[in-house]
Amino acid sequence: MKEHIVIVGGGIVGCMTAMALVDQGKRVTIVERNQIASQTSGESSWAGGGIAFPLLPWMYSEAVNHLTGYGAKSYRQICERLERETSLPTDFINSGFLLLPPYDQTAAINWCESHHQKYELLDDIDPLLSSIGQTQESLWLPEVCQVRPPYFMRALRQWLVQNEVTLLERTELVPLSEVKPLTAWKTLDGREVKADKFVVTSGAWSFQLLKAVAEKLNIKPMRGQILLYQPAQNLKQIVYKDGFYMIPRADGQLLVGSTLEDVGFDASVTESVKNELISRAEAIMPALKGRPIVKHWSGLRPGTPENLPTISVHPCIRNLYLNTGHFRYGLTMAPASARLISELIAGKAPFIDVKPFALAID
Ligand SMILES: Cc1cc2nc3c(=O)[nH]c(=O)nc-3n(C[C@H](O)[C@H](O)[C@H](O)COP(=O)(O)OP(=O)(O)OC[C@H]3O[C@@H](n4cnc5c(N)ncnc54)[C@H](O)[C@@H]3O)c2cc1C
Repeated sequence: MKEHIVIVGGGIVGCMTAMALVDQGKRVTIVERNQIASQTSGESSWAGGGIAFPLLPWMYSEAVNHLTGYGAKSYRQICERLERETSLPTDFINSGFLLLPPYDQTAAINWCESHHQKYELLDDIDPLLSSIGQTQESLWLPEVCQVRPPYFMRALRQWLVQNEVTLLERTELVPLSEVKPLTAWKTLDGREVKADKFVVTSGAWSFQLLKAVAEKLNIKPMRGQILLYQPAQNLKQIVYKDGFYMIPRADGQLLVGSTLEDVGFDASVTESVKNELISRAEAIMPALKGRPIVKHWSGLRPGTPENLPTISVHPCIRNLYLNTGHFRYGLTMAPASARLISELIAGKAPFIDVKPFALAID
């Protein structure tokens, strides 16, 4: 009989983990308290920008770079597979990434050269962008890609259904209460979900679920707000300046954001942040003045120190695994982190060193 794995949380990390486990021949169930590929209580995966690249990679450790680098290279193939097998769009685009000054040019160039990332330094930029403050060249990274998260998640959900993954949606699991062998996990409405192995991929809510068995798991929600514009003329590439990005979509819309707010599990949106995002967007792209804003939303990222996720078996509960805490780059990291956790579950040698991602318990 096939080994049965239950995944707790149906965001991008849970769904990509399920895909990797299906490819390994496992029987998989995802338990999701809302609906996969939707946004109800601030789930991060639906809400994200969809850039398959870690903004300023030279700021992160090599452990983070291993995960993001693998993911950045994987998205074209993953999207082709999803689109071919489900006939649903993912809006994968190789739009490239333009980094406007100020930035640490020496660190950026050193990183690109040591990581075989194609780059160019540009004096002239897109005429839609303001050249005020253009004190040094911009950095152009032509290989950076994006997907549209709501579409990507919908295609991924459809793929999982077609591949016989059981989806227990609108089913919430209750926090574990003690360190003991885990054969069944209780739901909020008093049922039990049984499995051979469990994987926690519950994003910002992971610490709430595991507090009693992993008190050192350092994950907290970090809210991000985003606006979607309908510009008259759109950018051709992703643009980043000083902590702020603009992402042109295939249908002509433009996403601008985002914020990093430490406000607990509050997934509401605020007028003050909306105004702040508008003024930053219009300073970079003056033609946005007066253009309609189609939507304003937020998501709760699973915030972690150094942006380092936990990808690990629990040291005492040997059939409990964690794949969580991907903070700002969960979309980018998901392919590598899904592969790693599925290798750990299968008892195979992991394709990269897993030590940096281990769960500390004392
Ligand atoms: C504004 C914004 C922009 C971003 N932009 C990018 C980007 O451009 N590129 C990038 O790589 N990353 C980006 N990110 C980060 C990325 O979205 C996250 O790192 C990623 O989505 C985390 O995925 P996840 O599956 O761990 O979490 P989530 O998507 O939050 O999924 C966790 C799931 O677990 C479920 N759950 C929680 N508790 C329970 C329970 N008790 N029982 C059952 N289910 C439960 C939740 O309902 C949720 O669906 C962005 C995030 C935000 C907010």
